[in-house]
Parts: sequence; C-alpha cells; structure tokens
Amino acid sequence: MKLLIAEDDFTSRTMLAAIAKKWGHETIAVEDGEAAWKVLLGEDPPQLLLLDWEMPLVDGLELCHRIRQLDTQDHPYIILLTSRNESADIVEGLQAGSNDYIAKPFENTVLHARIEVGCRMLKLQAELKQIRDNLAFLANHDGLTGLMNRRAVMQALEKEIYRTQRTQEILYIALCDIDHFKQVNDTYGHLVGDAVLKEVANRMTAVLRPYDHIGRYGGEEFLIVLNTCSDQIFNTFERLRLAIAETQFEVEHLNLNITMSFGISILLPTAEKRDAVSLIASADKSLYKAKEIGRNCIVSLKQ
Ligand code: GH3
Ligand code: MG
Ligand code: MG
Ligand code: MG
Repeated sequence: MKLLIAEDDFTSRTMLAAIAKKWGHETIAVEDGEAAWKVLLGEDPPQLLLLDWEMPLVDGLELCHRIRQLDTQDHPYIILLTSRNESADIVEGLQAGSNDYIAKPFENTVLHARIEVGCRMLKLQAELKQIRDNLAFLANHDGLTGLMNRRAVMQALEKEIYRTQRTQEILYIALCDIDHFKQVNDTYGHLVGDAVLKEVANRMTAVLRPYDHIGRYGGEEFLIVLNTCSDQIFNTFERLRLAIAETQFEVEHLNLNITMSFGISILLPTAEKRDAVSLIASADKSLYKAKEIGRNCIVSLKQ
C-alpha cells in the first residue's frame, strides 16, 4: 500500500518511514503539511495517510479538513498522530475527518495493527467502488452488444440537443435497422442472430469517433447521434452502411450477407422545434422510406 507520512520531526519521520517500508508499504515521507498537500494533489496519490497534528505551514488537522473537502471518490484513510491525548483532542481530530487517532508515544505493534485496519478499510472501499461502477455500467449499457442502452442514448441525445443550441452545430441522428433480421433468426436461430447483433455493433463503433454516440434503441435497431460542422457527415453514414454490407459476417462457420437501412433526421441551429421525440419521429419516417425503396440505403427526408 502506498503510504504518506507527514511528520516534521526528523527522527520520527525517518523511523516511521523505515518501519512502514519494513511492513511492506511504499512510503513517501514529507516534513510539513504543505508538502503533503502537494503530494495528495499529484497523480496517483497515496490512499493511506499518517499525519502528524503539529507541523509547520499546514498542520495535520487543517490537512484533514482540506482532504475531506476534495471532490473525489477515492477517500484516503487518515491516521492522525499526536502527543495530544485529551478526550477533547481526540474528538476534534476525528471530527476534522481523520479515521483513526494515535497518541504519541505509541508501540510499533499498535501502529502496525492500526495501519492494517486502514488497509482493510481501503480494500473494502475499492471493492464497493468496483461494484458500484459495474452497476452503473449495467444500468446504462445493453448486455448483449455493450453499447449504451435506449435510456442512456436518449439521455445523450437530449444533452446534444441542448448543447448544439449553444454551439450552433448541426445535429444528425440516425435510426439504423438491420434488414430482414427476422429471417436470420428464423433460418439460423437466435444465437446466430445475437452474434450478428454484436458484430453489427462492433463494426459501427469502429467507424464512429469516440465522441459520437451510439446505442441499442430496440431489438435490431440502433440510434446514432453525431454533431458536426462538417459537410462530410453523409460520408460517415455511407461508411457505416458499407461497414455492414461490404464484408460478409462470419458467424458460427456461416458466411452471412447482412445489410442495414438508415433513416436520418437533422437538427439545424435555427430549428424552432428542438425535442428528442420529434427528431426520432422524423428519423423513423426516413427509415420507413429506406425500407420501402429497397433497404440497404440511407434516407434523409426533408423535414
Ligand atoms: P426489416 O428489414 O423490415 O427491418 O425486417 P426485419 O425482419 O428486420 O424486421 P422485423 O421487425 O420483422 O424483425 C425484427 C426481428 O429482430 C424480430 C426479433 O425476433 C429480432 N430480434 C430483436 N431483438 C433480438 C435479439 O436480441 N436477438 C435476436 N437474435 N433477435 C432479436
Ligand atoms: Mg510535529
Ligand atoms: Mg426493426
Ligand atoms: Mg429490421
């Protein structure tokens, strides 16, 4: 565990650093609170902190206050070291945001045990954070393709509508639907259908830029949201169409010809109606037309 030791007394600092190293920790030792603060604001800061209360420039208590005001999800574990051992001091130290409090002089074995508790708490915190991140990912992503789910891509669309109002960019949205997908399922089964859906998602993601949005809107329908000032945008849609249609899908020893139809709607900076529902409705109309005129094509009806 990476451990920060902030202690102004040279002998104590050196001894603490040596013993913590012996216990297997990577240590950074500094002589005042200001230096400790700099370390904490740096990259990959230590998570376990041993802070002396009385130090020049910024004392341990002030450091605790500052740390707890940081906007972070990686809350460090703070052990405050001090020769103050009145009950009121202990209360003040803990209220300032420290997790633990050790009065000097202390036995090394006690310090060791307290550091171990800190390590356990940090490990638990990291596990909880991982679980929370996983849940957040699941809540916003489609389990099959890994793309954003309908709710998340609609949220992205709402944000883009709002954003382009300020930036005066044009917003393009596309509803993309795999052609005759029911036949794929009916002929080869659902598992092959699922594999095709995944491959479609991968191919489209590879064409798009990291700041474009793509989500699974429904069964075999995808929603793409692009903002740009470039007139090359229809090249992008054409590249998406070709990414699906040009190369056969190799799935379960089969070679399948898959195509996709695209319905586009465009939101100009001057547009008065700026809502997601009407944009989707007009993309849907364009998609319907694309299906009608033969599929595997891109249609953008005048709105
Ligand atoms: P069109 O060209 O008009 O879009 O024809 P289509 O066959 O693609 O359209 P239709 O709406 O008739 O069929 C869509 C099919 O997509 C039916 C449904 O079973 C299938 N589907 C939807 N979600 C999934 C999925 O998660 N996995 C699989 N394998 N199939 C799915
Ligand atoms: Mg001191
Ligand atoms: Mg469909
Ligand atoms: Mg379809």
